[in-house]
Amino acid sequence: MALQVVALGTGINVNGVDYCQHRYPPSFLIDVDGLLILFDCGEGTRFRLQAAGYDYGLVTHVAVSHAHPDHAALPQFIQAKLGRLLWGKHDPRTTQLKIYLPRILARDFPQVWNWHQPENDGGYWQEFAPEIIGMDDGFERELAPRVLLKAFSVYHSYGKHPAMGFRLETPYGIVAYTGDSGVCEGVRVLAQSADLLISDCQVRIGQEYTGGYGHMGPRQCGDLALKSGVKRLWLVHYPEVDEPEVIEAEVRAAGYFGEVRLAQDGERLALK
Ligand SMILES: [Zn+2]
Ligand SMILES: [Zn+2]
Repeated sequence: MALQVVALGTGINVNGVDYCQHRYPPSFLIDVDGLLILFDCGEGTRFRLQAAGYDYGLVTHVAVSHAHPDHAALPQFIQAKLGRLLWGKHDPRTTQLKIYLPRILARDFPQVWNWHQPENDGGYWQEFAPEIIGMDDGFERELAPRVLLKAFSVYHSYGKHPAMGFRLETPYGIVAYTGDSGVCEGVRVLAQSADLLISDCQVRIGQEYTGGYGHMGPRQCGDLALKSGVKRLWLVHYPEVDEPEVIEAEVRAAGYFGEVRLAQDGERLALK
């Protein structure tokens, strides 16, 4: 038994362009002894799970960093879970789903669902009612014995968009995810001593900034990984413009000499 992380989507909000040809929008699976947890749920997540050898029906926890559509294709995921009641392959986990959202987004999500399913008056089938859980900065929830989800507010979209990053503490190690974020206190806290940090790296070399829209570039990711004592760094949400070796050199220039990967869709890491 162990922990497996699978990058289902390392992309951005477009494909078929120079900035991103084939990578899917953000989604990361963490399999802890068969407990399936998603960090973000971009478009196509269930197909990506299938391609990785997993059954999306068995995912029971989904933590969404923020509501930008590339990270939060939740109605489609919920509908597909619900559809399993009609279309077979039953497992008790098919009817279970806990969705973790920044508190304001959790409050408003029922309107989003109602927009898709007005015939249900904002509700769900009795057999399948996902639990929507609102999170505040410093949120903690035990998902299983010794599997602890923590969430921290991060800085994104000029600070106007409620956004959070995550940290999953398990007996096998710590997996941290910045979501979309610029440099801020939240990413420093969530990354502390992580065995794997999955970090937003949307900003191109030479264009890094603080404040502003709220993304990081490779030197900032390297600095974060260094100062947080991170063992491994996956850069994700990056545009395919700068050469991978040059990006890695930027991370090294920040002084970080742990393992670093410009993560691709399908990338896996096992922790034992
Ligand atoms: Zn975003
Ligand atoms: Zn994004």
